[in-house]
Amino acid sequence: MTIDGKTRVCGLMGDPVEHTLSPIIHNTIAEHMGHNLVYVPFHVKKGQVGDAVKGAYELNVLGMNATVPHKSDVIPFLKEIDPLAENIGAVNTLVRIDGGYKGYNTDMTGLGRAMEKEGVNIAGKDVILLGAGGAARAVAFLMADRKADTIFILNRTYEKAKEVADEVALKTGARIIPMPMSDYEKLPLKKFVCVQSTSVGLHPNDEDVILDDPAFYQQLEVGIDLIYKPAETKFLQLCRKNGANGFNGLKMLLYQGVVAYELWNDVSVGDELCKAVERKLIEAQ
Ligand code: NAP
Repeated sequence: MTIDGKTRVCGLMGDPVEHTLSPIIHNTIAEHMGHNLVYVPFHVKKGQVGDAVKGAYELNVLGMNATVPHKSDVIPFLKEIDPLAENIGAVNTLVRIDGGYKGYNTDMTGLGRAMEKEGVNIAGKDVILLGAGGAARAVAFLMADRKADTIFILNRTYEKAKEVADEVALKTGARIIPMPMSDYEKLPLKKFVCVQSTSVGLHPNDEDVILDDPAFYQQLEVGIDLIYKPAETKFLQLCRKNGANGFNGLKMLLYQGVVAYELWNDVSVGDELCKAVERKLIEAQ
């Protein structure tokens, strides 16, 4: 691309930041849409995110992403915050507004978009969340926001599942049932959408899986694994073997970027372009 006097800058604040795939997403979209925009990584140390946000605004930076360790720390430095991001307590996208930035959680709205694109409608559905860590907690808020009927949170450590269930139920009014992972056979006999949000099966432990009973997978209509390395986790293999559709966390990564790009530029990114970006992400892994 040609950088000139009108080039707009977007970027990612993180520590570390060198491993990021986000420049691939944004620079590919900008190039294809003919936007004069460049996306760069910014190494911002813990404790410095407030200065970084102030500096970015004064430098006329159009939009920012925030990653570890800044997703919660950035919140006090925002001018406004989207209600879903506020509930979750984590922001990964900053959109320039008058006088500062508005924070969003496009990790979750991106996962929501990925589900829509895959034909998964959460409204009125029963959902199983496997895990109760940071990712699962955010997904629980998304499922509540998308009006799931009942959300079952299964976790190895029951107390953590209960903590997340209580918090999300209190803030959203959703019906959430925490369970120990070992009680999975006590789930009601019906079909579920299941989001695998534990770190079990993450590369290099490709052969691990959180549950290996085929009977569990026979109750799934759709299985979504937040892990994207390996691309086909044991969890996804078991879903497919037992008749459930599935997709991995690369779509969440893709659409968190797509939704951020749309917010920054007030555009809509088409399906063909999303597919082209997804292919580039797969190549880059
Ligand atoms: P986290 O806060 O550390 O939570 C880890 C979860 O995994 C907890 O529920 C933990 O259960 C469970 N777990 C870990 N080892 C286990 C084992 N041996 N047996 C049973 N359960 C186990 O991690 P996180 O930030 O939520 O991330 C979870 C996963 O989501 C990771 O694989 C991460 O790569 C993925 N992720 C993907 C994206 C994306 O863009 N696609 C974004 C964020 C996260 P206990 O509570 O019992 O310890």
